[in-house]
Amino acid sequence: MALSVLDLFSIGIGPSSSHTVGPMRAAKQFTDGLESSGQLAATVRVQAELFGSLGATGRGHGSDKAVVLGLQGQSPETVDTSTADDQVAAAALDAELRIAGHHRVDFNWDEDVVLHRRKSLPAHPNGMTFRALDHTGKVLRERSYYSIGGGFVVDGDASGSDKVVADDTVLPYPFSTADELLAICAREDMSISDVMLGNELVWRSEAELRERLLQIWAVMRECVDNGCAAEGILPGGLNVRRRAPSLFKTLAATDAGLQGSSSADPLLAMEWVNLFALAVNEENAAGGRIVTAPTNGAAGIVPAVLHYYTKFVQGADDDGVVRFLLAAAAVGILFKINASISGAEVGCQGEVGSACSMAAAGLCEVLGGTPEQVENAAEVGIEHNLGLTCDPVGGLVQIPCIERNAIASVKAINAARLALHGDGSHKVSLDKAIKTMRETGADMKIKYKETSRGGLAVNVVEC
Ligand code: SF4
Repeated sequence: MALSVLDLFSIGIGPSSSHTVGPMRAAKQFTDGLESSGQLAATVRVQAELFGSLGATGRGHGSDKAVVLGLQGQSPETVDTSTADDQVAAAALDAELRIAGHHRVDFNWDEDVVLHRRKSLPAHPNGMTFRALDHTGKVLRERSYYSIGGGFVVDGDASGSDKVVADDTVLPYPFSTADELLAICAREDMSISDVMLGNELVWRSEAELRERLLQIWAVMRECVDNGCAAEGILPGGLNVRRRAPSLFKTLAATDAGLQGSSSADPLLAMEWVNLFALAVNEENAAGGRIVTAPTNGAAGIVPAVLHYYTKFVQGADDDGVVRFLLAAAAVGILFKINASISGAEVGCQGEVGSACSMAAAGLCEVLGGTPEQVENAAEVGIEHNLGLTCDPVGGLVQIPCIERNAIASVKAINAARLALHGDGSHKVSLDKAIKTMRETGADMKIKYKETSRGGLAVNVVEC
């Protein structure tokens, strides 16, 4: 399966790539299939069932709302995040859906979107089944989908036009392990970002790719700006106050007071990195516009480290931003192919751990690291997140997720800098760390995999 940097970084909506973005895409895919098969006109009712982790924490992650939006033809990339909640509320109030944006059917929220807390579909913890019925109650079309992390959706049992087909594009520099990637770099005398770029040119021109990646960077910056400006309490009922706005004011005032002075706190950069991550993840928790990187729960880490690069590294420029994202994506692909980026599958090590590793690699690349040093940085980035469980309090992507992104962002910078002090040789290879992550995830009890039935989720009183 060939993966692009644009598969790892995509523009979407909060709060969760697997529980919000994926279900919205699956619901839209189902209605697209209804339309293209000519079955939409006879449809009088559509039902959705969410299973496994989607059923357990879907309410907190907005999975039910995402399904309603997707059934009405909305996509994560283009849905208006400022009116999304109103669109969902209107569907509930009017007791009707506009399937694919135009075909009216009756809608009963309690009966037509069902979340199963303890039932699962066979292939993956994030399963969904959609059903379209005609006026006699006969099933016109039924499909199951799996949201496998990072907004990726797989059609579980369909065939024909709406089946997701893996991209089997032949790449000039194929790799599925870090060892293979390093061998290509050595053989071709290329950096890791060069190898990624060479592969990307199969799909699009360098100019188009650069434009798309800088657009992603622009959305990341806008997300930080929005997070620094939005005051108040995050939705969901946990009463978590946004911290980014007040921290931003403090840091901006400190920066202003330091003009021309050399007495800055040496850890001031770390405080800014904390801010960047908090801002993104608070926006994500509020259902704002977000770049999935590689998931929404871990969406703050790559932007925070990229902001660190552009704010604190001399000579930082757009070329560096592009190379950062390419190198980070190369590492993300290794996680996706060899383990998982889904908290429901392997715990938070798959989300925050993968993002930390990716950001460490990206930063090391633009700080002048050799391919071996970049691989070392990525390995340090995941090694010290191994075993991290997924235990969101109340099923919301808030506690521990928001703060965890800030801590992992600082860890990623530390990993890159540590790797740059070595020559790239090290005991634990990135491939071994990824294998360990996969095996640790397989051994992890289900209650630590985005079900909110273990860890902090049961030890913190919701109020
Ligand atoms: S704990 Fe980690 S994996 Fe779980 S929802 Fe939060 S960020 Fe995602």
